[in-house]
Amino acid sequence: MTKIVVLVKEVPDAAVQKHIDSSVGRLDRSGEKTLNPFDTHAIEAALQLRESGALDVEEVVAITVGPSSAQKALHKAVSLGADRSIHLTDDALAGSDVVATGYALAELVKRENPDLVLAGQQSDDGQSYAVGAVVAEHFGWPALTQVIKLDVDGQTLTCERQAEYGYDTVKVELPAVISVGDAINEPRYPSLKAIMGAKKKPLETLSVGDAGIDASKVGADGSQAVWQSSKQPPAKAAGTLIEDEDTAQTVEKIVAWLDERKLV
Ligand SMILES: Cc1cc2nc3c(=O)[nH]c(=O)nc-3n(C[C@H](O)[C@H](O)[C@H](O)COP(=O)(O)OP(=O)(O)OC[C@H]3O[C@@H](n4cnc5c(N)ncnc54)[C@H](O)[C@@H]3O)c2cc1C
Repeated sequence: MTKIVVLVKEVPDAAVQKHIDSSVGRLDRSGEKTLNPFDTHAIEAALQLRESGALDVEEVVAITVGPSSAQKALHKAVSLGADRSIHLTDDALAGSDVVATGYALAELVKRENPDLVLAGQQSDDGQSYAVGAVVAEHFGWPALTQVIKLDVDGQTLTCERQAEYGYDTVKVELPAVISVGDAINEPRYPSLKAIMGAKKKPLETLSVGDAGIDASKVGADGSQAVWQSSKQPPAKAAGTLIEDEDTAQTVEKIVAWLDERKLV
């Protein structure tokens, strides 16, 4: 029997304007929040491994490190099909960088002792693409990123991963940490029944102390990354508007405009 842990994160909704709160040097995470859309592909991959019989999956456990509001992201994860969830939440975690967050997640993974850890390719806010690899490093397990196809043969996973130059095919032995690319599948929508039933699925809420986490390795004091400064991207210059009064002239104007910029 196989246990799969899926790493899921709460992120600001895509419609929320993101900016750094310069008083603390962190992303302002106020406003509407949601389950990181990239993580729904990881949940879907776990469900497909179970439903296809490729792995004899006993349990799919969604885990998160985040503030109390992150419980909603876990409800979404279980409504999508995870069997239960774990929420690590503690004021001591505020200001954790990628390494500190990865350490905290690794401690949760250790408690679960899974055969496979699945993660999204990136978070929609931090976008480090790094957490999966940090978690794997704590166990010396193989870590693969951007995996878009997973074939299972016993304890061996054959993974196709997207790279800048094409595709890699890589074989790894379980246990492993696999960050899936968003091209791996089309995540399902939760049914109304699943949404209603989500709150009944087991949710364990842990503090840093409960999880046996060394508080000196998390939070702002346990993090080595320090925000220095940031600036808004430059405002876009206004575009050129060409009124279509005479189509032949309009086409001429467009071609001249493109020609000037060596685009034709
Ligand atoms: C100086 C500094 C201070 C910061 N302070 C805070 C803070 O106070 N609060 C805060 O929320 N963030 C804070 N962050 C951001 C935080 O470190 C990152 O969000 C976190 O480490 C994950 O990195 P990422 O978002 O880039 O994830 P990525 O590496 O892009 O995510 C890849 C995948 O890893 C998994 N994953 C990522 N994060 C989590 C998580 N938390 N729980 C479960 N799975 C996860 C998901 O599957 C995700 O798809 C801070 C960062 C820095 C540099």
